[in-house]
Amino acid sequence: MESSARSFLDTLLSTPGVSGYEQAVQQIVRDYVSSFADEIDTDLHGNVIATLNSGGAPTLMLDGHCDQLGMIVSHIDEAGYLFFQTVGGWDPQQLVGQRVTVWTSGDPIHGVISRKAIHLLTDDEKKRVVDPKDMWIDIGATDGEDAASVVAIGDAVTVQLGIQEMRNGLANAPAMDNRTGVWVVFEAMRRAAAKGVSCKLVVASTVQEEIGLRGARTAAHGIDPHVAIAVDVTHATDCPGIDKRQRGVIDLGEGPVIVRGPNINPRVGARLEKIATSDEIPFQIAALGRAAPNDANSLQVTRAGVATGLVQLPNRYMHSAVETIAFSDLNAAADLLAGFAGALRAEDSFVP
Ligand SMILES: [Zn+2]
Repeated sequence: MESSARSFLDTLLSTPGVSGYEQAVQQIVRDYVSSFADEIDTDLHGNVIATLNSGGAPTLMLDGHCDQLGMIVSHIDEAGYLFFQTVGGWDPQQLVGQRVTVWTSGDPIHGVISRKAIHLLTDDEKKRVVDPKDMWIDIGATDGEDAASVVAIGDAVTVQLGIQEMRNGLANAPAMDNRTGVWVVFEAMRRAAAKGVSCKLVVASTVQEEIGLRGARTAAHGIDPHVAIAVDVTHATDCPGIDKRQRGVIDLGEGPVIVRGPNINPRVGARLEKIATSDEIPFQIAALGRAAPNDANSLQVTRAGVATGLVQLPNRYMHSAVETIAFSDLNAAADLLAGFAGALRAEDSFVP
């Protein structure tokens, strides 16, 4: 990974994106793509859409959702504690004991999420799964007035951001889902731009995937692609307790996952496999027997239908503060998508 590309990833992973419009992420993406995209637009929802070779055909859209799981402040009590709603599908047990940042209109505010100490829990409370309603954020406020002087109802909250490197090219951070996907699609564009493309390549950082695949829906309608590929994380199955009989063998570091199933145009899927094989890019295959629980779902049923692919990045501990990935998988995915874009021709048919 080149150092500028690596610093783009680090910046993506230290930037909050849970407000719904993701203004902070927009700016980082725009700064990075400005040196190689021909055009950059931000739509009404905050989707950032970068275009290369706008006179080319067909139109290929690459999609990575830029929003992350978080919280939103719903109440400030008289003692100055913050209560919250969750944004996206948290396992609430992952939240207890987290350091958090409240993204206010002024400076970010630090705090912790907690509940009563174990010594003070009743026997019944110890047995029950903790409910987000029974947790609070402590920012060190003296009282409600002090808290309300810096925090507003509706402010976004994330767990403490930032990447931590591990052994053998692995790393953990919150929001690997799906800043890694955002990194892959724009890095693929940078690599494709260096070699030239004959297609019109449109790369989108989309919003609001975690609350219903909403940004991809409007972005794809506007872009009107012939072919679209979503890049998102998937569950690695190389940690304890996961049923490989259902989910297959998906290992960190063994390459991006090319998905097969009804959400995937078979010609797009086969072409991804062919390019990976001919370019000697490692890849893994996974089955998905239903509509995808990610942007590939929205992309496929846009307008009169879009030939859709799904490339996934193996991820351990999804929807936690310690989502873990392998750098080599991101790199290989960027090569795969750059190769796909470079090989696409106007006469290619994707009618199955
Ligand atoms: Zn995701």
